[in-house]
Amino acid sequence: PTPLPTLIRKKRDGERLEDAEIQSFVRGVTEGTAQQGQIGAMLMAIRLRGMDAGETLALTQAMASSGRTLAWPPAWHGLVVDKHSTGGVGDKVSLALAPALAACGCKVPMISGRGLGHTGGTLDKLEAIPGFRVSQSPEEMQHILARVGCCIVGQSAELVPADRVLYGLRDVTATVDSLPLITASILSKKAAERLSALVLDVKFGGAALYPTQESARELARSLVEVGAHLGIRTAALLTRMEQPLGRAVGNALEVLEALECLEGGGPPDLRHLVTALGWGLSPVSPMSLTPPYWESPQCPCPTKVWGSPLHVPDPPAPHVPAPPDLPVSPCSSRGPQAGVYPPCPCPPMSLTLFPPGWVQQVRALPLARVLHRLGAGRSRAGDPVNPRVGAELLVGTGQHLWAG
Ligand code: URA
Repeated sequence: PTPLPTLIRKKRDGERLEDAEIQSFVRGVTEGTAQQGQIGAMLMAIRLRGMDAGETLALTQAMASSGRTLAWPPAWHGLVVDKHSTGGVGDKVSLALAPALAACGCKVPMISGRGLGHTGGTLDKLEAIPGFRVSQSPEEMQHILARVGCCIVGQSAELVPADRVLYGLRDVTATVDSLPLITASILSKKAAERLSALVLDVKFGGAALYPTQESARELARSLVEVGAHLGIRTAALLTRMEQPLGRAVGNALEVLEALECLEGGGPPDLRHLVTALGWGLSPVSPMSLTPPYWESPQCPCPTKVWGSPLHVPDPPAPHVPAPPDLPVSPCSSRGPQAGVYPPCPCPPMSLTLFPPGWVQQVRALPLARVLHRLGAGRSRAGDPVNPRVGAELLVGTGQHLWAG
């Protein structure tokens, strides 16, 4: 194989990498023969020089086959579907949509990620449930899917190990916002899942990885095209990410809000996005999740589940309940229910408003950065996050506030 420094130099100078060269880089990442500095340098070269569609597909395939590919019983043919987001602030949609799709009869073997940049990660949110194990073997995944219809797990030494390494390093090398790296990261996980259909939430705006709708559309095109080459029927929705989704930001608070959503409550913007993405899956899913089915009385999916208690046959994954004596935040009416770490207690603080006014915007990015620094995100790969750090929005856009 060509030495890694030669490959890095080639990409650094704007040349195209051959499939075999990309495979050799990914092998070095997976087997641990590539040094961290070399991987970081290659990531930066890709971030600055980009990759064409063929290179992006080769990178995705090499990463997908860096570990085991999941296999499902023939009876599940056409039922295995998933959703993925490019990342936002307060985005807890997966936690509500995966069980909602399972309630529709789908199987959702979601391989997810941790916080990336200022955006939150589904795995970090789930670990706000004490004892929740996001590492499951393919056999355990199949068992959970057979039992409850969905499971959310992380990359591991068995599952897309190349993404596990690259994902962590992108976070600390300022290489998160790269179209080929995002495409390969998301779709390598989805290819390993052996999906029939996939819906993607491609976010744009001040708190998304891509600021403009045009740049997000380009990313969505890349994702849909590579998805199609991998044999996954893929749909993408472009959604705005300027203000936090819902009212809760921070891992423990977001789990509680997702549970509220599944139980028939939760903020309307969250409910709307969960339904929209479920709907977005309909045209690409081989299941009869067509819009009429989605709205029919037979469909136990989000719009129908809301308002009636969700029937969950078993706890979705083993967890131990939170100790009963944990304090309840003075900020919130939410307590240690549902076995989730309660939010950090916060000292009372008043902000005096004068004159009266209307809330025009709640900017997600500064909020996410503050929470990140308080411990909700990580600055070094592998750092722990504090699940209890979070913020609850007590006012919303359009709301009138009185002076004082
Ligand atoms: N989600 C991922 O899994 N990877 C990315 O690069 C961005 C969002």
